[in-house]
Amino acid sequence: MNPTWPDREAQVARLRSDDGPFDVLVVGGGATGAGVALDAATRGLRVALVERGDFSCGTSSRSTKLIHGGVRYLEAAVKHFDRSQFNLVRDALHERAVLLRIAPHLSQPLPIVTPLYNWLEVPYYLTGLKLYDWLAGRANLQPSRFVDAREALQRFPMLRHQGLRGGVLYYDGQFDDARMNVAIVLTAAREGAVTANYLEVEDLLVEDGRVRGATVTDRLSGDRFDIAARAVVNATGPFTDAVRRMEDPDARPMVTASSGIHIVLDQRFSPPATGLLIPQTDDGRVLFLLPWHGHTLVGTTDNEAEIEAEPRAHEDEIAYVLRHVERYFDVPVERSDVKAAWSGLRPLVSDPQAADTAGLSRDHVVNVGPAGLVTIAGGKWTTYRRMAVDAVNQAVSVAGLEPERESTTASLPLVGAEGFSAQGAGDLQERFALEADVASHLNRAYGSFAAEVARLATEGLERRLVPEQPYLEAEVVYAARHEYARSTADVLWRRLRLAMLDEEDARRALGRVAELLADELGHDEARRAADVAEAEALLGLAATA
Ligand SMILES: Cc1cc2nc3c(=O)[nH]c(=O)nc-3n(C[C@H](O)[C@H](O)[C@H](O)COP(=O)(O)OP(=O)(O)OC[C@H]3O[C@@H](n4cnc5c(N)ncnc54)[C@H](O)[C@@H]3O)c2cc1C
Repeated sequence: MNPTWPDREAQVARLRSDDGPFDVLVVGGGATGAGVALDAATRGLRVALVERGDFSCGTSSRSTKLIHGGVRYLEAAVKHFDRSQFNLVRDALHERAVLLRIAPHLSQPLPIVTPLYNWLEVPYYLTGLKLYDWLAGRANLQPSRFVDAREALQRFPMLRHQGLRGGVLYYDGQFDDARMNVAIVLTAAREGAVTANYLEVEDLLVEDGRVRGATVTDRLSGDRFDIAARAVVNATGPFTDAVRRMEDPDARPMVTASSGIHIVLDQRFSPPATGLLIPQTDDGRVLFLLPWHGHTLVGTTDNEAEIEAEPRAHEDEIAYVLRHVERYFDVPVERSDVKAAWSGLRPLVSDPQAADTAGLSRDHVVNVGPAGLVTIAGGKWTTYRRMAVDAVNQAVSVAGLEPERESTTASLPLVGAEGFSAQGAGDLQERFALEADVASHLNRAYGSFAAEVARLATEGLERRLVPEQPYLEAEVVYAARHEYARSTADVLWRRLRLAMLDEEDARRALGRVAELLADELGHDEARRAADVAEAEALLGLAATA
């Protein structure tokens, strides 16, 4: 299957040409903004999407990668008899089923075990998870059940044996967040949306008291130009209020940030097909240990934070996570076992128009500013599609738009999903003489476009970037040619997940990635050196935080 969407240069040219206003201009290319652009495009609206960094460079690439209803929110719902929290969980469970259906290559169900060391805890957790199953209704993946200590240890052999009574096993979805984000952008582009990264909104255009577009700067060329639109949707996550203040300098803040870190350990710390949920941390949270791309992902934390573009995982946060792993494991775990650590900011939202703004919820808010700016914020990755429907409905109403049809995103397969089969790895392996781990990685990461990447590899790009990882040189060229990657960091952090899995391996791959990108994109020597320096600085940031 060949990619059919326009490249970045064509997209930027379309944004600059004076063809009359877009129906909707979306600001922010994380999960929420990408979802809004796709939703509006499927309704037949003329859509532009601009992202000031790379797609998914913010919170959306730094999540726990669970497609979930939120077991924790369920606990809160039960404790406080809060009906709205129940609805939140039920809706998210419905979305879980949608995502697993529309992006089967980038997501799959994952069994997760909660180990229990006290018999009294068993009925508590089992009842809660049965309620979770029940709320999912027909969208349930598989029934939760009690597992005895023997099965718990069979699934998770490194768990602390002493005193283990058993555990509760339940199912949620797991996904590759940054690749899913890019797949949503590519699907929007395929549906006709004009999508461009590295375009920063610097100001809003206001005519007769109404927002009518934005002034953007192309951060690659330095050019500044206007994009006219009937409606503007602000989907900038933690930066929501900065964009709202472009409309109304006195806008009351609606977003605060809390940071969550993850660390990555090697595969020794988790079996390939089961996750672990540590139900009680010192600060009353939960901690996940999940198998992820041949490694173990552990997180997360929850601390008040400054809003910044590159939040860092601090040593005390890393120590906190390690302490809890150690508590539940029979194998020792040390700081030197940490292959990578990164931090993301949760955009916690309160509705500035609501009477009670005391309780911050994880639900989303759609807000309309005094000049008609539509802001969508909060929610979670799992509910991006639902949030997008609400935001586009609001934009349609504010700007009097006339969509040709209803949103089709509940059943529209994302790019790569059409014809994907989990067995496709075997075919790829045979057809292109690939090693098993490479074939399996390509099949999952690119779905129906995996053969296209494998074909590109036959043009002298078949080498691995680093020996122990399944990433091929061809993927760098593919990312630049067909997935809007423009820098080494775009490739190493978000198209391949190498920098988020193993910082040392990313450091080793960095020079070659920059070289391949420079060839593909025609970068001169100065640009290549700047690109390398930027990626090195990001790795340095992670290592010295
Ligand atoms: C630690 C952690 C773990 C999480 N785990 C999960 C999970 O397992 N499952 C789940 O469902 N949810 C999870 N979430 C929540 C989820 O990740 C977020 O709700 C979601 O990613 C938010 O997406 P967003 O698009 O709103 O924000 P972002 O991804 O931050 O996107 C906003 C974008 O706007 C861009 N931008 C800002 N200003 C401008 C401007 N002026 N011009 C152009 N662009 C601009 C930014 O560069 C950024 O890319 C987690 C969150 C955190 C922090």
